[in-house]
Amino acid sequence: MKLSELQKLIFDAGIVGAGGAGFPTNKKLSDKTEIILVNAAECEPLMMVDHHIFQKHLHLIVEILNMLLDTMGAKEAIIGIKSKNRYLLNPEVVANMEGTRISVKDIPDIYPAGDEVILTYETTGRIIPEGGIPLDVGVMVCNTETLFNIWKLFNEDTPVVEKYVTIGGDTDRDITVKVPVGMKISDLMTACGYTDLEGKRIINGGPMMGKLVDIENDVVTKTTKGLLIFPEEHEVIQKRLRPMSLTLKRASAACCYCHMCTDMCPRHLLGYDLEVHKILRTASHSEVTNVDSFLQASLCCGCGVCSVIACQQMLDPQNIAMEVKGQLAKLGYRRPSGRKVEKVSENREGRLVPSNVLAERLGLRRFMGKTVTRDMRTFNPDKVYILTRQHVGAPAVPTVEVGATVKRGDVVAVTPENMLGTTMHASIDGRVVEVTNESVVIERLK
Ligand code: SF4
Ligand code: SF4
Repeated sequence: MKLSELQKLIFDAGIVGAGGAGFPTNKKLSDKTEIILVNAAECEPLMMVDHHIFQKHLHLIVEILNMLLDTMGAKEAIIGIKSKNRYLLNPEVVANMEGTRISVKDIPDIYPAGDEVILTYETTGRIIPEGGIPLDVGVMVCNTETLFNIWKLFNEDTPVVEKYVTIGGDTDRDITVKVPVGMKISDLMTACGYTDLEGKRIINGGPMMGKLVDIENDVVTKTTKGLLIFPEEHEVIQKRLRPMSLTLKRASAACCYCHMCTDMCPRHLLGYDLEVHKILRTASHSEVTNVDSFLQASLCCGCGVCSVIACQQMLDPQNIAMEVKGQLAKLGYRRPSGRKVEKVSENREGRLVPSNVLAERLGLRRFMGKTVTRDMRTFNPDKVYILTRQHVGAPAVPTVEVGATVKRGDVVAVTPENMLGTTMHASIDGRVVEVTNESVVIERLK
């Protein structure tokens, strides 16, 4: 198959990065790729989707890697997985990789091992230039479930209409379920028996980088990976409820300028020109003399090490840096990218953050250690809300009208092909009952 044909098939199937921001996968495929790097780090505590896929489907991941290697003309594929999770891999499948272009590489049990900048360095020794992408160093980083979605496209002729999600946190048992894209999170919680949510809040994503769920309105999207329930008084929730004005006031009153937040920052340690203590200082003191500090925020990945591990004053440089980054992005400002990193800090080894230290610091111990079971039930929501923006780039434009009858897998919205974006599909059989720029709502036929 030609690369352009593969790109078109993947665009039509609506495949985007199944974790993180949802970068359209067709745009990642390139004949300049030397290494396909599978991100199996699953570095945020309590997240278990990749665990499940590797345990059940490693042979399918290998199958699709071989196809991608051939189509892109890449030299090798590396599965980057924490050594403690090696047990998930079927030994027979691993043995069969011997002498092939696919290998498994151990990564240390550190946070944030799944940040593509860190993962690329740990597995290949290459450092992505500041503001760059993995392809700048010949690497394509691919999420595990994204690869599985490509396998399903070629073997089951299925576009992305369902999503694996781990539900955990303050629960009796943690489960990983397969959910129709567009199902309301409130319906999912009810269907799974998590009905007593009084005094609790849910985070969509991991406890470090996930976002608070609006239970009335939020739906499962192509990037939903975990829904973690926590008591409202827990710090991971309180941190997200704190207004930015208060975060800045606390920073201006209590920051002692010790720069531990910078010293511990994983990207700074890799040689990036990112000094978060200066961002915090500049933002909290409204210092206009140091504009470059603002621009440095565009190099932050929002991992939160600076807030959770480094700062002894309980300040929140992570949220301040991400706020600045978001504001700059809205205005179209970015630090000029492409500076090559000259030197990794000699302190890096000693400042890596072990995952168990992170879990302890976050107060997650009591939520951990439960067996995560795969729940095979099929969900049949009466209504799904297919959002037109579940990915990086331009929103998809609805292609159906109210009253249309659709089948699971039918196209309901597409981003114009000359723009960065993807295709959206109906995730249930039913009738279209509402179409807006934001979503296509489908109701199951009774
Ligand atoms: S959140 Fe903090 S530690 Fe993480 S990359 Fe940004 S500045 Fe560095
Ligand atoms: S670690 Fe905390 S106190 Fe020290 S410079 Fe950073 S924000 Fe300020």
